[in-house]
Amino acid sequence: MAQYKQATQAVRSGIESDTQHGSVVPPIYLSTNYTFEGYDKIRGFDYSRSGNPTRAILGDAIAKLENGSTGVITCSGMAAVNLVTALLCPGDLLIAPHDCYGGSYRLFDCCAKKNAFDVSFIDQGDDAQLAAAIAKKPKIVWLETPSNPLLRVVDIAKICQQAKAVGALVVVDNTFLSPALQQPLELGADIVVHSTTKYINGHSDVVAGAVVTKDETLGQDLAWWANCLGLTGSAFDSYMTLRGIRTLGARIRNHQENANAIIAFLQTQPLVKTIYHPSLPDHPGHEIAKRQQKDFGSMFSFDLDADEHGLQVFFENLQLFSLAESLGGVESLVAHPATMTHRAMSDEAQAEAGIFSTLIRLSVGLEDADDLIADLDHAFKAVAQEK
Ligand SMILES: *Cc1c(COP(=O)(O)O)cnc(C)c1O
Repeated sequence: MAQYKQATQAVRSGIESDTQHGSVVPPIYLSTNYTFEGYDKIRGFDYSRSGNPTRAILGDAIAKLENGSTGVITCSGMAAVNLVTALLCPGDLLIAPHDCYGGSYRLFDCCAKKNAFDVSFIDQGDDAQLAAAIAKKPKIVWLETPSNPLLRVVDIAKICQQAKAVGALVVVDNTFLSPALQQPLELGADIVVHSTTKYINGHSDVVAGAVVTKDETLGQDLAWWANCLGLTGSAFDSYMTLRGIRTLGARIRNHQENANAIIAFLQTQPLVKTIYHPSLPDHPGHEIAKRQQKDFGSMFSFDLDADEHGLQVFFENLQLFSLAESLGGVESLVAHPATMTHRAMSDEAQAEAGIFSTLIRLSVGLEDADDLIADLDHAFKAVAQEK
């Protein structure tokens, strides 16, 4: 299906692949094991941890969306992150962003403390820090762009060139944008990691992940490790995710439209101070995002001009934005990074990362934009009244 555009590929993933009954949608194979055709004669699959027909369709589908060769489906996004670290040996260096996903930070940090590999967390937007880190000849350079919750953007193509020069592999966590808005392998990356829990499944009912490689041998190596470590995803989750992926193009478009409308509204609000979104010309990542992304995405955050009581009033008066962690689902969510997603960071670390108590993060869903704006407007008015 390489000749088709991305939305077509997403919709058609595994359609009409059933050879038994001609089912239009691929069936779900829940069986843990598969009979051998006969003595020493294996069929395509033998045991579901190692390989499963439903999971295989999803792996191929996500690989195609990222323009990669191989897609390994894992039982969570963290399992996908963990799987990539299986490529590292003691003494190997991993360079990671200082503001990467908290779970990734914790995993890299704990593994390094056990000497599984070395890690160096740096501000990858700082050219001098990046050059110094790459001069240490890392085995892997880990990128996450845009970052959470301030949507910092780094130049994937530029960092890939620098990393290639010292023989490092570049891994990009593409969870925040999905392949509909950013394709890191096309920019020179070797591996893409997803928490498919977010936009790829998109319905907040599956926790799962994916690792996509450009190179087939590297992909097979990771598939081998996924089976060895027991990190592979379940058939049921794969079936659900395959269902979600068919609407990826349509969802992302609608998410983006709604996010754009809400950002335009927030810009008129006196209680909204800085808005952190790469679509805004004064955002430091604006130019890079314009170059390397197909659009700016529907995740963003902003500073609310309120004290602790004002924040409470704001959250209590929202009805359509559910106060919850995670992101990328059809339903709109609001999060307070300082007490939720980034709670594990010390106050000093939060301040250093630019995460203040007034910061609010939105994951804009697919409700009608007018309703979402009215909901925010109502909450802002409630805060203003208390002032
Ligand atoms: C959620 C998330 C993860 C972890 O994925 P899980 O599915 O929760 O295990 C990794 N990276 C990013 C950017 C995420 O948002």
